[in-house]
Amino acid sequence: MKDLSPLLRTFLFVIAGDIAIEVGIELLNSEEEDITDEGITENIKARIKELNPEIVFEENGVEVLKLNTVRKTLYKLYSGKLAQFRRIRDKSTGWFIYYWWHEFDLFDEILNDKKRLVETKLRERLKFEETNYFFVCKNCQDSTLKYNFDSAFELNFKCPDCSGPLEAQDNQEVIQFLKEKIVLIEHLDLSVN
Ligand SMILES: [Zn+2]
Repeated sequence: MKDLSPLLRTFLFVIAGDIAIEVGIELLNSEEEDITDEGITENIKARIKELNPEIVFEENGVEVLKLNTVRKTLYKLYSGKLAQFRRIRDKSTGWFIYYWWHEFDLFDEILNDKKRLVETKLRERLKFEETNYFFVCKNCQDSTLKYNFDSAFELNFKCPDCSGPLEAQDNQEVIQFLKEKIVLIEHLDLSVN
């Protein structure tokens, strides 16, 4: 039986919890066949049963692993671009049958997109911190008033409350923190293999 890479496993868990990992394993192992959401649910049950023969999936009319839960999970994977389906109308019942397959090949791309997004946000924040530092009055420590360079300049760098000097607030720590995060994410290896 094929298994998910640790990274993909983690990602599936983040998307929809433990059940997403189970669904992912089934999708991975049914690449060569048409599998429905019902088939996936049955396969998961059979696999769990094999590991734990004592397990009961239905107790007092309450189902432990519902078909509906598997369906919802599949749709979450679909929204996350990791699964696809096609539907066919069953001529005898008139209901749609959904066949599912995974698109885990796109996982690398999805991860890199996310990585780029985070990196962009960090860089934007860094730029903001580097260009927008604030001035505060050290005498009025209680005051939450902060002035950007332009306002402080207009005030002649004097506090409008006590006329004390407005001093630049040190954001070097924040800047350092952001720079470290950017280096970290730049070197993050997201290759699945
Ligand atoms: Zn002041």
